[in-house]
Amino acid sequence: MLCADITMFDYSKGSITVEEIRMQISGKSSVGFELVSEGNNVYSTFNPELNVPNPWQFVEATLEEVEKATQLATQAFTVYSELDGNDRSNFLLTIAALLKKNKTVLKETFCLESGLSSDRAITELNRTIWQLELFAKIAKDNSWRQIAIDTSNPNRQPTPKPDLRKMNIAIGPIAVFGSSNFPFAYSTIGGDTASALAVGCPVIVKSHPMHAGTGELVARIVIEAAQKTGMPEGVFSNLNAAGYTIGQHLVQHPAIKAVGFTGSIAGGRALFDLANQRKEPIPFFAEMGSTNPIIFLDDAFENDNLQHWVEKYTDSLLKDAGQFCTNPGLIIGLDTPYFHSFLAKAATTIANHPSYCMLHPTIQENYNRGKANAEKQNFVSILTTVKKQKANYAAQTILKTDAINFISNPELHHEVFGPFALAVVCQSVEEITEIITKLEGQLTGTLVGTNTTIEKNKVLVAALRNRVGRLILNGVPTGVEVCGAMQHGGPYPASTDSRFGAVGTHSVNRWTRPISYQNWPNSLLPIELKNENPLIVWREINGQFTQESL
Ligand code: NAP
Repeated sequence: MLCADITMFDYSKGSITVEEIRMQISGKSSVGFELVSEGNNVYSTFNPELNVPNPWQFVEATLEEVEKATQLATQAFTVYSELDGNDRSNFLLTIAALLKKNKTVLKETFCLESGLSSDRAITELNRTIWQLELFAKIAKDNSWRQIAIDTSNPNRQPTPKPDLRKMNIAIGPIAVFGSSNFPFAYSTIGGDTASALAVGCPVIVKSHPMHAGTGELVARIVIEAAQKTGMPEGVFSNLNAAGYTIGQHLVQHPAIKAVGFTGSIAGGRALFDLANQRKEPIPFFAEMGSTNPIIFLDDAFENDNLQHWVEKYTDSLLKDAGQFCTNPGLIIGLDTPYFHSFLAKAATTIANHPSYCMLHPTIQENYNRGKANAEKQNFVSILTTVKKQKANYAAQTILKTDAINFISNPELHHEVFGPFALAVVCQSVEEITEIITKLEGQLTGTLVGTNTTIEKNKVLVAALRNRVGRLILNGVPTGVEVCGAMQHGGPYPASTDSRFGAVGTHSVNRWTRPISYQNWPNSLLPIELKNENPLIVWREINGQFTQESL
């Protein structure tokens, strides 16, 4: 049964009961400004900690509801993409303010649907708010337009040069598939949605079925903000779906002009192929899995810092049951007493660490399957695997093999999503380089060693640079900073387009396309391209960056 009554919750209260949350969740999709539920398929989210379904249900959207959402998004696009950047900025800031106001109910629902801690919920919610504020700034300052102006030269020989003015514009309505492991920061109003809204693209979210309640509450906040700030209906819709049909239909719909996806390689690839098989293929930006190699060079453990690295590494591996796309799941080092000692101490720390529940039974099953598959491969030994404390808990594990075996067995190259690592012991830096060269594309690659060894191993550094989106020195890959200089993406299959990233200010580039105006008089040009530069935007004029008028 859907929850019939939606009573208003007193948000000033510091806590909320499960029953109060149940009364808040309608189980409906948001199509434009309306809550709808004409479908027949009903599903629930799951409380991973208690290993029971949550007491609220969702109705899967129908194809008619997808149609309505895409129609509204198309209509909204013509208005929304033409708005002043200040208006879009105000919309994003209003969403951020409403998220802050509703922190309690959002946090509790997040925890009940993910099994993640309250601290994690608050950290992630704060990050989501901060991302919105960052994208609000981008919407306002128009830096995403990347304007280039080349003035005419009628006297040029043998042909006159035309006046050309280029800027980025919004690409059109976007479909967003959020990931299970970031119910706030990479989901309903996460980085993909916020960046697309910043540059004028309406968004239709395919809600993640594992946190549909969190998704609905966030979606209703986005719609409230849209109404409060006078945004056109259809600027945002949130469609419930627990199977593939709705998502696949959305990706194939002619009204959708680009897709943002965060999730598994299998899911990302299936939808990427659909996007490319369309009559009008569209950009499909998937951020997917990665094993994130961390390489310990021969002087990595100098100056008695072995224990430091054991703690730093195991914290990164085990945090939130290892459910991060940047989890360091592949450890590579040389056959030295130091590296073996590091592995032995890391194994002990992992063995003594408490286990945690995973996000959902399906993720748990995938974890068990991936781990069992790695364990049964030839020439693989188990350094440690803990005994599960509860059925839905992840048994953190570290395995070991040698370079020749690793290189010859692609089964060992797969990501096992969760608290899992494979250590590869190598006989030489050349062997490490060969491993890296044969790895699939990665989100990150990490080197641990002194500046002298890094300097000495330029071939290895170059090989790693070719395989990753972020090259880390003496750090760990978890903890993805949201800023302009962050690259979150990498060669396939880390992402489907290594030229772009899903985190930080430059992620807006995925939702834009450049357009050139040739020989247009000043009076008819868009405001961003006018001689006077009324918005005081940074522009490249005849090769020089300036905020001056022309
Ligand atoms: P997932 O199982 O791929 O699901 C993501 C979304 O895609 C869900 O809404 C899912 O719908 C949909 N989907 C999956 N396969 C589909 C298909 N063939 N057709 C249509 N829709 C499909 O990913 P997840 O649940 O988030 O699982 C965790 C994985 O995400 C890990 O492998 C992890 O590495 C990766 N991840 C990557 C990043 C990154 O930034 N690179 C970040 C976080 C997580 P249903 O659930 O309804 O099936």
